[in-house]
Amino acid sequence: MGEPEKKAFFEKLELSKPLDASEPFTIFVSVPYCRTRCNSCPYFKALLPTKEPNETIGKYASTIEKQVAFYASKERFRNARLGSVYLGGGTASLLSSGQVVQIVELINSSFKSKGAEITLEGNPKELKSEAYLHEVAGHGVNRVSMGYQSKQERLLEELLGSPHSAEEGQMALNAVMRAGFNTVNVDLLYGVPGQKFGEWKYDLSEVVKTGPESITINSYIVYPHTLTAYRIAHGIMEEPISGDERHKWYLYARKKFLESGYVQARTGSFVKPGHEQIYAELAYEKSKESIPIGAGAYGLINGYMFRATGSPDKFMDNISEGLFTSPDFQSIKASKEIMMDRYVMQNLSHRRIYLEEFKQTFGLDLRDVYPTQFERMEASGLVKKDEEKITLTDLGVRWHQNIFRMFVSEEVKGLLRN
Ligand code: SF4
Repeated sequence: MGEPEKKAFFEKLELSKPLDASEPFTIFVSVPYCRTRCNSCPYFKALLPTKEPNETIGKYASTIEKQVAFYASKERFRNARLGSVYLGGGTASLLSSGQVVQIVELINSSFKSKGAEITLEGNPKELKSEAYLHEVAGHGVNRVSMGYQSKQERLLEELLGSPHSAEEGQMALNAVMRAGFNTVNVDLLYGVPGQKFGEWKYDLSEVVKTGPESITINSYIVYPHTLTAYRIAHGIMEEPISGDERHKWYLYARKKFLESGYVQARTGSFVKPGHEQIYAELAYEKSKESIPIGAGAYGLINGYMFRATGSPDKFMDNISEGLFTSPDFQSIKASKEIMMDRYVMQNLSHRRIYLEEFKQTFGLDLRDVYPTQFERMEASGLVKKDEEKITLTDLGVRWHQNIFRMFVSEEVKGLLRN
């Protein structure tokens, strides 16, 4: 986007037009720094400078606060209900506990946030500190999501290039479980090139034994132009396991979770009953408006999907120059068709689409909108239908990425490519 378009973009968001008071929305706060660049990470944006890191984070935190104050000063979100806040990254836990508290308190005092879910995502390196956890738990953070990944030192250090060690992971897991959050989510990785099935089984049983309220398992993806891709291409690292093998690992994990009292919330997300993530429901499943705060954050306001400038320095310059939305990419105003496609993908990620809910949301029958797609998928055994809903089968989960691609419009593909 050129500078004039960036300035004009602000008008399109219609921030002076209030949302209905009953309408829930979310806020995503991006902290784009990382201590190291992991070997195949699509989310990496910037390294935390080794020289004066605290000054950098301090300046960034106060820039975020200015952006929060900007959105809070507009009519649009004044009476609507803030349902969920997600502090992610990068690495949100690189903020000091004091900075987290200040941002959370600013959000709470600026919006109608009573009962909102407030998640802090972080790395075991910072989350192992009891003092840090108690301070944020005592000031509004009620959900922590930890990039634990594995209990295997070999996997963390050699294969993933993670910033934390296995010992730090275990210390952090024990500490977050004691700190009194309503929900602790633990992220685990499977299908890492070189990872053995026995290691995966061990990681699962160790985490289940500790008993967090939520466990998310992520299938490891080797992204092009990353260190992992280079190592595989040069025979330094094993090839990833096949899709079928990966699916077996997934089914093993799912069985383990279901036998241990978890329910399935999304394809890779398992929670104890009552701990379903509100952010995922509002921002993904229901496509409610989302305010993007910070470098590289994605938002959805007034039907426009947009992303803030990814470079933290450029982002901070934009805010200091009064370009408070700091967009580097905007969609055209999302049409009903795009929102329906998005709804289908997001709800299939939850493994089901409720037919009545689709009708109430869009005023159309799902089977009329997609007459051939679902019939073909049903004939291939990828989904099953009953009166109430359409559900992804296990075969559908195996091929879910191919299925989702069927519902990505050209415009959204452009957004993903940019
Ligand atoms: S810490 Fe997280 S966001 Fe940063 S590079 Fe590693 S995996 Fe990516």
